[in-house]
Amino acid sequence: MATFGNLSDRLSETFKNLRKKGTLSASDVDGTVREIRRALIDADVAFDVVKEFTGRVRERALGDEVNKALNPAQQVVKIVNDELVGILGGQQRRLEFAKTPPTVIMLAGLQGAGKTTLAGKLAKWLTKDGHTPLLVAADLQRPNAVTQLGVVAEQAGATLFAPEPGNGVGDPVRVAKDSIKFARDKQYDTVIIDTAGRLGVDAELMKQAANIRKAVDPDEVLFVIDAMIGQDAVATAKAFQEGVDFTGVVLSKLDGDARGGAALSVASVTGRPIIFASTGETLDEFEPFHPDRMASRILD
Ligand code: GDP
Repeated sequence: MATFGNLSDRLSETFKNLRKKGTLSASDVDGTVREIRRALIDADVAFDVVKEFTGRVRERALGDEVNKALNPAQQVVKIVNDELVGILGGQQRRLEFAKTPPTVIMLAGLQGAGKTTLAGKLAKWLTKDGHTPLLVAADLQRPNAVTQLGVVAEQAGATLFAPEPGNGVGDPVRVAKDSIKFARDKQYDTVIIDTAGRLGVDAELMKQAANIRKAVDPDEVLFVIDAMIGQDAVATAKAFQEGVDFTGVVLSKLDGDARGGAALSVASVTGRPIIFASTGETLDEFEPFHPDRMASRILD
């Protein structure tokens, strides 16, 4: 994965050097941990996350599980892998469905994060799985947003629910509420609500998203974050957690070649699981997120 290319290369270099040693002294462990720390910081992983991560790796690497291992270096690599799976959320967390349909999924995130694209990806993925999604345009901020969601809905073969043109347009909370009634009446089993985003965190839009959340009581609120946003990831994620109390994270643009630290920080700082990963502009470039697979890719 391009996003982690550099981090991967740095870690494999570190492990290559480590493997040359038979037994490991405390200073070998410290040296290795220091290199891991630098590699993570250079990959834009949030400082607190790096500190906690390397602290745990160091403590375990200095303990008996490495001391008594037949292959100490290999055991250190295993520890790094375990801890990486841990900061990525541990177990895979699947999308939650409502006991009684429709399942309501609300999307939130900054403008350009990939929400509208994700709405299409989710719709297509759900359709393949036998679901009947309805895409709801509750981003009434940008004139183009409804049209854009319409295009995505068509590509995904899903139905669009949008305010009637000229019909007062304005109220996204109303649109979201009406869409649920519509889904119930017409038997759509999943409602995906696209909400407005701004370039920066914006109090008024956050309030609007919070009001939509309150009005429709979603089964999932997915926070979409661009893996390329670097150091801003933590502050943005925290603002959205406070604003809309999201239930899960979607990492988008993991195909990019930025440093990807957002991806490695966000589950850890918010305590919310990463549920999906988006890896391209077309609707098929999307998959459920597996912490263990991501860790293996990074450590490959
Ligand atoms: P929104 O403002 O949050 O709704 O974001 P959009 O869905 O409109 O996406 C913004 C831009 O990012 C568009 O040009 C998308 O094609 C692009 N995009 C979305 N997801 C991905 C992804 O996973 N990878 C790449 N490379 N581009 C993406």
